[in-house]
Amino acid sequence: MKGTVYKSTGSWYTVKTPEGVVYECRIKGKFRIKGIKSTNPIAVGDRVSFELEEAGDETYGVIHEIRDRENYIVRRSVNLSKQVHVIAANVDQVFLLITLNNPKTYTIFIDRFLVTTEAYDVKTVLLFNKIDTYNQDELAEIRYLAELYRKIGYTCLGISAKEGTHVDRVKEMMIGKTSMFAGNSGVGKSTLINAIEPSLQLRTAEISEMHLQGQHTTTFAEMFDLSFDARIIDTPGIKGFGLVDMEKEEIGDYFPEFFALKQDCKFNNCLHIDEPQCAVKKALEADEVSWSRYKSYLQIVSGEEDTYRDDEFEM
Ligand code: GDP
Ligand code: ZN
Repeated sequence: MKGTVYKSTGSWYTVKTPEGVVYECRIKGKFRIKGIKSTNPIAVGDRVSFELEEAGDETYGVIHEIRDRENYIVRRSVNLSKQVHVIAANVDQVFLLITLNNPKTYTIFIDRFLVTTEAYDVKTVLLFNKIDTYNQDELAEIRYLAELYRKIGYTCLGISAKEGTHVDRVKEMMIGKTSMFAGNSGVGKSTLINAIEPSLQLRTAEISEMHLQGQHTTTFAEMFDLSFDARIIDTPGIKGFGLVDMEKEEIGDYFPEFFALKQDCKFNNCLHIDEPQCAVKKALEADEVSWSRYKSYLQIVSGEEDTYRDDEFEM
């Protein structure tokens, strides 16, 4: 039988078949996923094959195969620093919520986030939330940012989760897909999710549960089917994800507008900093590449400690 992992709580996995039947499953033997050392062999979003086994009057599944992942998001393991924890696999898109104030989302934060999702090969949509609260100057700034990121290739949309503006367009983008929501605390993730699916009430449940359990309990990601052929992966208790083990030379490849120019740089391992005949710097001076993006790039390449923090991005 085949199915998708909707929830994982240590040794048990909740797997749903394409017909919508849910089975609790275990793993037989050891699984090794090529290329990574992870504390969890199977994550939410994984597509698996399993067989049913009977124990007394109970039936449960035994997973014996995991399909190749399209992508996956990790964070460093809390206990074993050399290993990672796979938060979710096969994520179609992440919506990054951005606000100009209450709280202010800094462009360095947006750019770090995008480098991470590019590295994970997860599509990212930028949602500029709380447009009901902005004055003319702030709206102009949003338009400027949206234009900047749209030119690079990211879908951008102004929304008001509170008033429902363009929530229908977010829902449209979610159809047939598995989505996650990210952004600083207070940008409106819970408000948006509740506007999308009022019956879900994910985050309210999460908060009371966290109080009951205390701070140090591990909580797990969980996938939910929505009422309109869309899935959400919610990650209560997981503070976020970040860059894990990225080489300096790789970082420019995750700025798509830099990557597109790289072939014209004199050196094929050009860092776009001091090298002669650098196409990125040339484009920068011609105002074809944005200075704010370039500044973010320098900051990330300079390897300041927090570039590699795991808890960067709240989801
Ligand atoms: P989260 O931490 O990202 O989940 O943010 P919340 O959804 O809890 O929202 C934080 C605060 O911002 C709450 O007081 C919301 O009512 C408010 N908020 C969220 N979206 C909007 C919006 O589009 N417009 C306005 N005016 N307030 C919003
Ligand atoms: Zn260069």
